[in-house]
Amino acid sequence: MDVSGQDDQQAADVSAPMTAARIHVMLVDDQNIVAEALRRMLADEAEIDYHYVSDPANAINEAVQFKPTVILQDLVMPDIDGLMLLKFYRSNPETKGVPVIMLSTKEDPKIKSEAFALGASDYLVKFPDKIEVVARIFAHSRSFLAQQQRDEAYRTLEVLKKELEEKNAELERLSSQDCLTRLANRRIFDEFVSKEWGRAVRDNTPLSLILIDIDHFKNYNDNYGHQGGDDCLRQVAQKLTGTVRRPSDLVARYGGEEFAVVMPGTDVDGAGRIAAALCEGVASMKLKLPHAHSSSADHVTISLGVASMVPSVDGSPEQLIEKADEALYRAKKNGRNQFQIAE
Ligand code: GH3
Ligand code: MG
Ligand code: MG
Repeated sequence: MDVSGQDDQQAADVSAPMTAARIHVMLVDDQNIVAEALRRMLADEAEIDYHYVSDPANAINEAVQFKPTVILQDLVMPDIDGLMLLKFYRSNPETKGVPVIMLSTKEDPKIKSEAFALGASDYLVKFPDKIEVVARIFAHSRSFLAQQQRDEAYRTLEVLKKELEEKNAELERLSSQDCLTRLANRRIFDEFVSKEWGRAVRDNTPLSLILIDIDHFKNYNDNYGHQGGDDCLRQVAQKLTGTVRRPSDLVARYGGEEFAVVMPGTDVDGAGRIAAALCEGVASMKLKLPHAHSSSADHVTISLGVASMVPSVDGSPEQLIEKADEALYRAKKNGRNQFQIAE
């Protein structure tokens, strides 16, 4: 057989997958003679596995073991009523969906209708022609197997869906976080400033921004190495988040060694106080962050530019950023390790 022939074969199997699965027929009947009759009928059917249960008291247990794709259930037995057993099948999670064909010795529309009402799938008077019995066994078993496969596919889909949701949440987190400092990244900063700008316009409230830049950081990198530089960035970031406490504020990594703090509802006095605390906070890590090659101090320091405004409808967040940037430039020019407030 060539490869393409095999592929065709497999494609055909996918469209009719049930042909491959085995059919499990379980008969529950107290009469051996019925069991023998059925055994003979099914003897030529290679796809069918046959299991006979003579004691109805074992029916549920045996069904759980054998996993029938169809149950042939005698209606009248000495100890247990066949309809009662049908109820048991239907209330047990393991046998709930298995098709049950009720076997009776006579046609009785009333009992028939009762059996269907209790969840029987079919009703046979013992015993019709072999062709018919086999046809019904195949039909019920295949529809059961198809249903099982659909359930399985659905469960797999649910698992995949959950995994996808988790991955998306992780992706969302990663795409909003700067991986070095774990602060919000530039994308989140841009979104936040623009959203808060709009809110401040509507509410007529102030919006403040502090831009922060580490002093002589190029020298720091050159002398303490890139790893040392990264570690310094992490420590400064931690100090900033530890100092800015309001849940409505955002601390973000703005660029390489630049950070930003956005403070909705905060006026220039409040923003100035925070800037002073941040400047002092970083400088206070003297022992942890010495900087032997800075002309501003013997440890790592930052310069800060503060801008605050009550935004107007025709303005844009870029105005606030420009003002903070201009103030930061003045702080650098004035000797660093300080903050300046924009006019
Ligand atoms: P100034 O006081 O005027 O700010 O001087 P500076 O040296 O800090 O300024 P400059 O902008 O010249 O240098 C910034 C340096 O920051 C250069 C760059 O190598 C470093 N840097 C930017 N991002 C990272 C980073 O992710 N890790 C490390 N280790 N260094 C970075
Ligand atoms: Mg810089
Ligand atoms: Mg710098």
